[in-house]
Amino acid sequence: MKNYKKYYIGVDVGGTTIKYGLFEKGKKDEKKLLAKFYVDTVVSRTNPEKAIIKGIISDIEKFCESNEYGVSKSNLAGIGLAIPGPVVDNNILRAVNINWKKHYDAYSAIKKEFGNKVKVTILNDGNAAALGEYYYSLKGKYDSICLMTLGTAIGIGIIIDNKLIEGKTGIAGELSHMKVDFSKKALKCNCGNTGCLETVTGGRGIANVYNSLYHTNVMKGAKDVISRAKVGDKKALAALEKSLDYLSMAISIIMLVYEPEVILIGGGVSNEGTFVTNIIKEHLKGKVYMTKKLPKILLAKLKNDAGIYGAVSKL
Ligand SMILES: [Zn+2]
Repeated sequence: MKNYKKYYIGVDVGGTTIKYGLFEKGKKDEKKLLAKFYVDTVVSRTNPEKAIIKGIISDIEKFCESNEYGVSKSNLAGIGLAIPGPVVDNNILRAVNINWKKHYDAYSAIKKEFGNKVKVTILNDGNAAALGEYYYSLKGKYDSICLMTLGTAIGIGIIIDNKLIEGKTGIAGELSHMKVDFSKKALKCNCGNTGCLETVTGGRGIANVYNSLYHTNVMKGAKDVISRAKVGDKKALAALEKSLDYLSMAISIIMLVYEPEVILIGGGVSNEGTFVTNIIKEHLKGKVYMTKKLPKILLAKLKNDAGIYGAVSKL
């Protein structure tokens, strides 16, 4: 029997893992996640741009050939990519984590392989995650939101009046590389500058603040610090408060520029729950100019799946 269902594949490309999600279009046009699979990211030394896209195409082809869940090349309706770097009009400008430095037309390469009937979209991963969360649970309730994905890096996606804010070259809202630590001890960031928001808050930054305050290197990630703070370790709590104060500074700037109704906290740090969002709320008080009501600080729902949901949201 012929399968008339429509399938979509969302691909979230990270520095260590590429995540794939298979979606089926439901009756109300919503996309339902059927299956996920992960592969390690392999960054090739020669032509890394072409190599990574070739790898993604081959993974999708293999999945279609296996005919699992009824998906095949003939009923695949769309492929969406979320990329860890700025993307403008389906054109990846750069992505340091996957060594993407020069121009390569990923959009056309995927179209060529799967045919013109397959829709293709390429988005920045922070933006894709914001779209994913927005379409999954917030649309209809709010029309202006900001997602801060606090993983090892920090991804920020802003949707105002139902529209994703990208900017001329895709870096609008990327406060993760705003300089906030002006001290002599400011750490070097992956982007080449020092003292960026990402170095003092988020998955790695929270640990950095602890290690720097107490001249140690015992903390490997945010989870280490937060779990100690939760059981009343005063040193850990002080470090966490200092780190989240930097984050609330960034939120106050987002409020002044865009005024979203909701700030969603996602990524690994969000697994620590309202313990973290309550501290952020406290530190936001007195930082937001003229607004009588602070934005809602909520936990993201899709966790690590926000990128794959967002990647297919526009298809
Ligand atoms: Zn930076």
